[in-house]
Amino acid sequence: DNMDPRASLSILVLLVGISLANPVRIPLKGFTKSGNISKMWLNVHIFLSSKYVSLITGSAEHLIEGDLVFPKTKNALYCLNNNCFWKRNSSNLVEVPYIVSSEYSSTDISVIQNAMSTFHNKTCIRFIPRSNQTDYISIENKDGCYSYLGRIGGKQLVSFKRTGCVYHGIIQHELNHALGFYHEHTRSDRDQYVKINWEYIPTEKASNFQIRNTNNQNTTYDYGSIMHYGKIAFTTQAGKETITPIPDATVAIGQRQDLSKLDILRINKLYGCVV
Ligand SMILES: [Zn+2]
Repeated sequence: DNMDPRASLSILVLLVGISLANPVRIPLKGFTKSGNISKMWLNVHIFLSSKYVSLITGSAEHLIEGDLVFPKTKNALYCLNNNCFWKRNSSNLVEVPYIVSSEYSSTDISVIQNAMSTFHNKTCIRFIPRSNQTDYISIENKDGCYSYLGRIGGKQLVSFKRTGCVYHGIIQHELNHALGFYHEHTRSDRDQYVKINWEYIPTEKASNFQIRNTNNQNTTYDYGSIMHYGKIAFTTQAGKETITPIPDATVAIGQRQDLSKLDILRINKLYGCVV
């Protein structure tokens, strides 16, 4: 069975020290928010390996695909006239202006900026402090980790809750959504690479696993994408997988350490980066 949903953060901290195979569901403060975001839970999967302990998924109910807010139409999104992407400038750089909530500590800010620096070092994406740009992302300490898909126009929220979301890989994951990337396991050809075990997926979570009409940009399916869910994401039964890689079920999926080589390649392809 799932852990008591009232599990507290202190229990989470305790569990980080031991092996844990199942997600911990943490109720978040302020259940009712405006718009479509309400009664949210942080689903935290703790993975242990010899090298690291990481939070694998932070997400919230009532958001399509777990941590996406209102996807517009659709690895990357298809959209009319590429209007849902950020614009490349005359220097062949894609500037994504951002502002950051004052609720973050200087340590939080440095984690966020360090996550951004991977994009800067490997792609033509440049997250820059906003001056007066019309379209920008607003990084805020809301109830969960989530983002809109692609550029929506004007101010757009990216939420990194201070407790649970300010981690290198989670930040990259959400920023990649803001660049226009869907979850890897929902891409159009995923049935050749993973089996979705619907019997362990709650009805209200089924949309998180639905195939999307994605632009895969001639890149191969990537189990190691930072945009791939883990094997037991949203499972209703402890230890039962909701996503099983095929034909080799032992392949690792769902890392949240760093952008993969293919994640980087796709950003560069989508935005026409010259790198
Ligand atoms: Zn996501």
